[in-house]
Amino acid sequence: MGSPNRVYVPSVLEADGNAIGMGCFSTEQIAWEVMKTFLGKSEQMNLEQATIVAWDVDVVGEEAMTVLTKLEGKICPVCQRRTFWVDLEHLSALCYGSQCSAWIEQSTVDPEIIDCGWPPLRFLKQVKEIEEAYNELRTIGADVLASVEEHPETATQQLYESTYQTND
Ligand SMILES: [Zn+2]
Repeated sequence: MGSPNRVYVPSVLEADGNAIGMGCFSTEQIAWEVMKTFLGKSEQMNLEQATIVAWDVDVVGEEAMTVLTKLEGKICPVCQRRTFWVDLEHLSALCYGSQCSAWIEQSTVDPEIIDCGWPPLRFLKQVKEIEEAYNELRTIGADVLASVEEHPETATQQLYESTYQTND
């Protein structure tokens, strides 16, 4: 087996500017898996940015580097944890937090339409503006929180317990 010509490097940037590397990998797919696992725990850190960069081996300078993905960390409109990662270039966002997976994505059928959803309730809605999508998800978040308060035995209770514990 020869050495790879290209390596894939996932990394995150903390709010104070400190970069955390996760290693370098032989395929983009493995790099993604490593980063997804890491971002699932991002509520415990104050992260601002996550990237996957491809580096060509034995090439000098900036030409060796290709940014494949650049995500920005936001507060999730549903679970309120800092696990909502937004790809500004491709207009898509996903919460990597456990038991959430809230998402926003530009429709593949009609680029004028934005889809958003929350899998635990099988909620799915199509809207016209990104801000509308955030509002829909915020409404879901408020509804879920209210139902947890009314019916403490629901499955979503665990989600909110974990949320408030990590915020302490
Ligand atoms: Zn979430």
